[in-house]
Amino acid sequence: MTIETRTSIVWDYAPAPESADHIRVKDRYGLFLDGEFREPAEGRYVPTINPATEQPVAEVAWAGPGDIATAIERARDAQPGWAALPGLERAKYLFRIARLIQERSRELAVAETIDGGKPLRESRDVDIPLAAAHFFHYAGWADKLRYGVGAREVTPLGVVGQIVPWNFPLLMAAWKLAPALACGNTAILKPAETTPLTALLLAEICQEAELPPGVVTILPGDGSTGAALVRAPGIDKIAFTGSTAVGRDIQAALAGQQVGLTLELGGKSANIVFEDAALDQAVEGIVNGIFFNQGHVCCAGSRLLIQESVRDEVVGKLWARMRRLRIGDPLDKNTDVGAINSAEQLERIELLVAAGEEEGAVRRTIECELPERGYWFAPTLFTEVSPAHRIAVEEIFGPVVSVLTFRTQAEAIEKANNSRYGLAAGIWTDKGSKAFEVASALQAGVVWQNTYNHFDPTAAFGGYKESGFGREGGPAGLRPYLRVVR
Ligand code: NDP
Repeated sequence: MTIETRTSIVWDYAPAPESADHIRVKDRYGLFLDGEFREPAEGRYVPTINPATEQPVAEVAWAGPGDIATAIERARDAQPGWAALPGLERAKYLFRIARLIQERSRELAVAETIDGGKPLRESRDVDIPLAAAHFFHYAGWADKLRYGVGAREVTPLGVVGQIVPWNFPLLMAAWKLAPALACGNTAILKPAETTPLTALLLAEICQEAELPPGVVTILPGDGSTGAALVRAPGIDKIAFTGSTAVGRDIQAALAGQQVGLTLELGGKSANIVFEDAALDQAVEGIVNGIFFNQGHVCCAGSRLLIQESVRDEVVGKLWARMRRLRIGDPLDKNTDVGAINSAEQLERIELLVAAGEEEGAVRRTIECELPERGYWFAPTLFTEVSPAHRIAVEEIFGPVVSVLTFRTQAEAIEKANNSRYGLAAGIWTDKGSKAFEVASALQAGVVWQNTYNHFDPTAAFGGYKESGFGREGGPAGLRPYLRVVR
């Protein structure tokens, strides 16, 4: 008698798309200037595209030099009144903005995902709550500024220009605006050309919060708008997050001028796994370190340094875990890896991945079905990487991890520091003493132990070397927006 084999059951996820019906995206957005949405002086509107579908989401006005000049004038007019408000009163506005972000969080999360391609799970659970948390945090500082800078007497800088990238559009806007406003500055923010939407929704929130006109200005545009803002007379400080190349250009443009500058630039951060680490936990951290937000993260753990004795085990577990990642519709709540932000960024990733193969590294890319439209890149792992390979040196800014190995703690430190960047690092070990010893030797602004990509508004974030200078977050984030008088 034969025993009947049981039919094998294939378990799979059912689609779980987030509804987008409730979001109120307008067909067209003007510039947010002097407290209202306005036509741009040059009358130029450009569509913003959903990178997962290549469909236009809305038309957005791009600011030209005339608009920038008007914005600076209005921001300058508004600044003394804003700075003269008691800190507690400025705090009330920031609290209101934070509360309104929370109230509109579902709408903001969907808008962020549609405009930028990141999975809804991330915009809903990370970007939007953290943006609100930044406003809450700096609202708390607005009436205690001198205690944030060692009990010195301080004044605001004046009008600040802020340029943000496309990887965390609303969160970066919050990182920039919240401390600037708490300190009594007025701010002109330029969002990235591919992701202006949530900054414009934040402008609506500023209106709802009845923020005085001119305190916050939102001027969408491309690189030329950013370059014009940097060079415009009447700006007291520039805060920039983006590529090292543009950071260098801004620094050169401002050399010798009385304009404050903070730069948060690229990275090639080392995620170091020691043989005594809890390896399953480390693998989750590696995945979060490099595949979170499709790897479009300045502090992504893109250089994975594994101790030789556990290299095969970690790579085996990582590959098995990677094959379970779900790539596709960013609005689906089960999606782990969404769309690449733009065709240009996809091209950059493909170029560097091709260079990795040409230079002799071994590539493994997970097999998965990618949507026909949109910009996609499947999670990729490179082994047999030498420290001189381009994929071990240059920021890929995509879902690509390069594996290197080390034998001793000293070698791990040397390899981790062998980079022109120095933004972040991760250490995976069971030994507290080892973690502290390694962390103090690493040239990185942020070092995570047994976790990765963990952000908190109370903690300072910023870089060493070509990753920039200045800190954002926590009391350290106040300093770049204040002048110490005494
Ligand atoms: P950019 O540095 O060009 O963009 C960042 C911001 O600066 C955007 O708002 C951009 O506008 C603006 N900008 C562009 N040129 C100038 C300029 N000359 N003066 C002032 N502002 C300017 O980054 P990209 O989007 O081109 O990305 C290129 C690479 O940079 C990525 O592949 C990645 O490696 C790295 N990058 C790093 C980031 C980080 O957080 N460290 C963030 C983004 C990118 P616009 O959007 O119109 O270009």
